[in-house]
Amino acid sequence: MNVLVTGGAGYIGSHAVQRLLADGNTVVVMDNLFRGHRAAVPAEATFVQGDLHDYDLIVKTLKDHAIECVINFAAWTYVGESVEQPLGYYHNNTAGVLTLLRAMAEAGVNKIVHSSTAATYGEPDEMPITEDTPQAPINPYGMSKYMVEQILRDTANANPEFAFACPRYFNVAGCDPEGRIGEDHSPETHLIPVLLEAATGKREKAYIFGTDYPTPDGTCIRDYVHVVDLIDAHVLLMNALKPGQQLFYNLGIGNGMSVREIVDAVKKVTGVDFTVEIGDRRAGDPPSLYADPKKIKEELGWEAKITDTETMVADAYKWFKANPEGYGDG
Ligand code: UDP
Repeated sequence: MNVLVTGGAGYIGSHAVQRLLADGNTVVVMDNLFRGHRAAVPAEATFVQGDLHDYDLIVKTLKDHAIECVINFAAWTYVGESVEQPLGYYHNNTAGVLTLLRAMAEAGVNKIVHSSTAATYGEPDEMPITEDTPQAPINPYGMSKYMVEQILRDTANANPEFAFACPRYFNVAGCDPEGRIGEDHSPETHLIPVLLEAATGKREKAYIFGTDYPTPDGTCIRDYVHVVDLIDAHVLLMNALKPGQQLFYNLGIGNGMSVREIVDAVKKVTGVDFTVEIGDRRAGDPPSLYADPKKIKEELGWEAKITDTETMVADAYKWFKANPEGYGDG
């Protein structure tokens, strides 16, 4: 298939590009390189520098490359930052996708797999989270993605040829087990890479954001899914999508790990007893989020193959050790 991967130079997008190429697809990557890395895009993919606000460029790219499906990873993804910069989040994550969808309509492209998030559920009363759990985002990041889900529903309701899948990610971790690409964010805020920075001396210490949550050890619980498994689900979704379909699936392993448990896993894998201090709660963080991933297993046969946290940490650490400066582009 001819696939446009928007945000394909980022952490998750670059893993998708690698897999799509390995499967024999023709891949075009569009990325504004705000947080993505040109070096994360293999030479076999066509690279177009641009962002989701550039309607004309997207229409041209879709037409020039006879794109059949778009997979959109382009987004700002930090919960804490979204509380401080809501307009940036709505501009990029909501308005940007609106422009992308308008461009797709103009070019006659009717298939999209769009990254959504467990943050659209807010602070649910019950765990695990199913696709029927009511969505009530509690931060601008979750709301920016929730709004896109609604835009996609309305678009599909108006056009029977249009089809979309919204995988709702829980916490994505790990990287290519062969160490060709990895996770390089600047600034880095995600728990596992932050802890790896502390373990390798790149930062002096790490903080646990809050130990007074209503969870067994007082720290937040999240469902960590390996990026390779996550991408596997995207490929299944892309290949399964039929005109008119509106698909929503939780992508998690179905098991929650606390921040303290992740700290222990990183210390064990790295063998370094780095300094961890207790900090304040971070704005916008729900206490506990983990998936019921049954629906996608029953309907498409997907389930996470890697469920062991230490394996996820070890894969992330491998790339991290080999590339202490990340992609080296700042
Ligand atoms: N967290 C933490 N210290 C850090 C970074 C994150 O305690 O330096 C916590 C954060 O409060 C959340 C969990 O780790 O409960 C996962 O955060 P992350 O930013 O990795 O992903 P998110 O859940 O926000 O998507």
